[in-house]
Amino acid sequence: MKKDLIDILDLSTGEIDELIATAEDIIANPDAYAEKCARKKLATLFYEPSTRTRLSFESAMYELGGHVIGFSDATNSSVSKGESVADTAKTVNCFADIIAMRHPKEGAPYVASLNCSIPVINAGDGGHNHPTQTLTDLLTIHREMGRFEGLTVGCCGDLKFGRTVHSLLAAMSRYAGVRFVLISPEELRIPEHVRTEILDKQGIEYSEVRSLEEAMPQLDILYMTRVQRERFASEEEYLRLKDSYILTPEKLLTAKADMRILHPLPRVNEISVGVDADERAAYFRQVHNGKYIRMALILKLLENNAKGAKKSTLPPEETLRRDLKCSHGRCITGIEQELPHIFRLTDGEDGVYRCIYCDTKA
Ligand code: ASP
Repeated sequence: MKKDLIDILDLSTGEIDELIATAEDIIANPDAYAEKCARKKLATLFYEPSTRTRLSFESAMYELGGHVIGFSDATNSSVSKGESVADTAKTVNCFADIIAMRHPKEGAPYVASLNCSIPVINAGDGGHNHPTQTLTDLLTIHREMGRFEGLTVGCCGDLKFGRTVHSLLAAMSRYAGVRFVLISPEELRIPEHVRTEILDKQGIEYSEVRSLEEAMPQLDILYMTRVQRERFASEEEYLRLKDSYILTPEKLLTAKADMRILHPLPRVNEISVGVDADERAAYFRQVHNGKYIRMALILKLLENNAKGAKKSTLPPEETLRRDLKCSHGRCITGIEQELPHIFRLTDGEDGVYRCIYCDTKA
């Protein structure tokens, strides 16, 4: 296992099994873990709002006996003076043992990981990835359903900008017999790189549909998402799409009795509060699980660091191109003038190059 967690695919399925087993052991024996991170410091560098992710990282570190430093609002840090992500990472490297970073620009945690020696965890980058939410989702699915194999997973809502869906699809695609039903308006379909690099490449069975009602009876998991207002270029477009799907108790009448409803939260109005009392609503149990899986992850990455595990690196030089420019509006290269634009040759797509930070096609 690597030292950093930037993309959920940095973890093998075996490593995910290990993290789930550790989380279960922490839930059963919390006292045994109370001093495991004594004298260690977690830096939470949050350049974008968060309730669950930041607080669960922080409470995870406290419950391991460690300390927390950092910022929850980048305007209070030197970022407001124009400091680059690389320089902030080099600085925090002098103070902390591990970093959890959230950033509105895609690829920022990867840039941090390339510029420091301590482990870096991606706590959400733009509309790109959110691997620790996926670990939370996986622990929840495992606890609620007892398995991953053979499940039909419906992802509903903003599949374009919803980073948690992108990481979840990547993670669940590795289990046998998993099928996806992707429920979204045309404008919020999953990004091209997720479709080609994850689903098509591995021959995963999936369908893209518009109607939640039609999809409902076949689902084992319904993963609801919020329409991501902050990532829309136009407020008008957001207003047009924001109420695309609203889950109500009536819509659940045709759902399987043991289906589970997950949501990374926060919800706006896409799940009516009337659903909360339904046994199938697992989203607040999911929040609870997030703390335990993050405890397991912090422990594992610090242990890997002590054993000299590998840091993130660039892909092999012979697969890179440095003469192309990334024009994706949410890529970290868009705000950091001195960051080199680098593209990698993808595996399995003939001659296609993608930005190493945001995965956008050249
Ligand atoms: N909390 C999740 C995230 O940070 C989902 C959301 O914001 O809608 O991506």
